Amino acid sequence: GSLGIALVGLGSYSTYQLAPALQETRHCHLAGIVTGTPSKASRWMSQYGIPGEHVYNYENFDSIAGDDAIDAVYVVLPNSMHAEYAIRAAQAGKHVICEKPMGISVAECDAIIKACEVAGVKLGMGYRLHSEPYTQEVKRLVREKTFGEVRYVMGEAAYISRGNPDQWRLDKALSGGGALMNMGVYAIQSCIYGCGRNPVAVSAQEFSTRPEYFKDTDETILAQLTFPGGVVGSVMTSHNANANRMYASCDSGWFELQPANNYGPLSGRTSDGPIQFPHESQQKLQMDDFARHVLEGAPNLAPGEMGRRDMIIVEAIYRSIREGGRTIPLDIPEGYGFG
Ligand code: NAD
Repeated sequence: GSLGIALVGLGSYSTYQLAPALQETRHCHLAGIVTGTPSKASRWMSQYGIPGEHVYNYENFDSIAGDDAIDAVYVVLPNSMHAEYAIRAAQAGKHVICEKPMGISVAECDAIIKACEVAGVKLGMGYRLHSEPYTQEVKRLVREKTFGEVRYVMGEAAYISRGNPDQWRLDKALSGGGALMNMGVYAIQSCIYGCGRNPVAVSAQEFSTRPEYFKDTDETILAQLTFPGGVVGSVMTSHNANANRMYASCDSGWFELQPANNYGPLSGRTSDGPIQFPHESQQKLQMDDFARHVLEGAPNLAPGEMGRRDMIIVEAIYRSIREGGRTIPLDIPEGYGFG
């Protein structure tokens, strides 16, 4: 079988990444859309051959419950809307894929996880890198201790934001925060899969150079993570610099990816030589992995618990900044999806 997916929110990520990827997937397909814009609905219907009965808007969204062609709902809305639509999708009996960040607070992540449990539906995050071969190779190098113990990890995820200062990513009510909410998860996760552990404490600092543009969202954040076993990590995320990199220093060598978190092709090296894999659409791999999880019981490579874990770290980073850079202990359940 093939999992029928409905995309909620037809913005740039749905338009330029997810919908094209769904033309290449083998275990899932684009079965429906949810949009508040009638002109987009008709354009997508003709471009992708979606019959009108599988097209929804935000008012009649809940009636998707009766649509047997749609097995899963993929929430691709501004961050502060993820929880509402993920929960409504679960209550409609649909499996849920939720874009990053999972929500704008740990409490929202809890509510999404609970709703999916109660409804008995599967929940996956839009964390495409976990299905991506360079990232999987990094995890293998860590797991097999190819270069011995990891001692230091670094993750950077940043780009320069220009243009419309009123875009939702710069509006805290819709985004929940700035660079950290948007890109921070990539830098945080680079450190986590770069050493194969979840952090136990974090401290952080915020830097602002364009306050007139970044009115109520963070511009640049540096954070320091400590991990069990004495591993330390460095996180950099920004809306005012270009950076896309991960690095891990081990007892007998090192490995790095640069770029580490864009749509690819990624590029990597170790102290022994280059890392090389053929490029495939990350979104295609990610959605096929989720579909195989639902259809065949394959592992969920990016479960809701992972989205929640990352939000625990994000909240702690904001708290450390508010409290003058104080070290905040992290209480992350054991084995919480760093593999
Ligand atoms: P976008 O601005 O291009 O699209 C947002 C969509 O939401 C638009 O279709 C817009 O019409 C709709 N929308 C509904 N209510 C809205 C409101 N009140 N305000 C603004 N827009 C509203 O954004 P995007 O780049 O497609 O991002 C959407 C989500 O996907 C975000 O959560 C983002 O973090 C995530 N994303 C993930 C990746 C990834 O690599 N995993 C990449 C890009 C975006």
